Amino acid sequence: MTRLDRSNCEEAFRRLDDFLDRRLSPDEMRLIEEHLEVCAWCAREFNFEASVLDGLKRRLKQVEAPADLLSKILSRLPRREGHD
Ligand SMILES: [Zn+2]
Repeated sequence: MTRLDRSNCEEAFRRLDDFLDRRLSPDEMRLIEEHLEVCAWCAREFNFEASVLDGLKRRLKQVEAPADLLSKILSRLPRREGHD
């Protein structure tokens, strides 16, 4: 999947959340990583999303809150199934 076309970008975006959560199979992870290496636009979007999530999770960890509440919040963060 090295050709740059729109369907590759759509595929990559469909897997964005799972990619960031490392919930893809190793094969899928590799495909996304390969796409990000050749597609500057997706790479930028992915990096942006990753840094937003990272900052959010880091801030949540600094807050004193019951562990189960935290994990509930974290599990709800990126849920955009089928939209966009
Ligand atoms: Zn792309």
